[in-house]
Amino acid sequence: MAEALRQVDRELVENTRTFAFTTKLEKIVAWGRKNSLWPLPYGTACCGIEMMSVMGPRYDLARFGAEVVRFSPRQADMMIVAGTITEKMAPVILRIYQQMLEPKYVISMGACASSGGFYRAYHVLQGVDKVVPVDVYVPGCPPTPEAVLDGVMRLQRMIEDGSPRPWKESWEPGVYR
Ligand code: SF4
Repeated sequence: MAEALRQVDRELVENTRTFAFTTKLEKIVAWGRKNSLWPLPYGTACCGIEMMSVMGPRYDLARFGAEVVRFSPRQADMMIVAGTITEKMAPVILRIYQQMLEPKYVISMGACASSGGFYRAYHVLQGVDKVVPVDVYVPGCPPTPEAVLDGVMRLQRMIEDGSPRPWKESWEPGVYR
């Protein structure tokens, strides 16, 4: 009897080693979250066109689990701001961002979205981070599709590592509320 129980024990240990792994709940949630980002594309200008190519078959954003593009903020968790943003659009972006559910992320794609680009004009917002908290800035005019993919991968690493996002904690809607 004792020998039979020992045998069961040995088999249990062996099966556990073969078929099971241990992790933390936060880790597995982060793994699922980073591999199922749902983008909300906010494309306004030339960068918007470049963003579309990232989602096409050549660059295939689907490889990173982020191909389910949604135009409803309630079904998206990754806003990609791509293109020139005017002052008139600022309250709209803020409204859309506020309607997205937590946890939510923002990628600023290109010089115009990140800093106004070469449009130093009264009607152009000098960086979308004046309205919403940005997690990743992708440089370029326009950024290449590879650079956008790199931005998505950086965001995925941040989610996986549970990186602190102090800019989000200190963010307030400001004058566009
Ligand atoms: S960063 Fe360059 S490519 Fe992108 S919207 Fe501005 S002008 Fe166009």
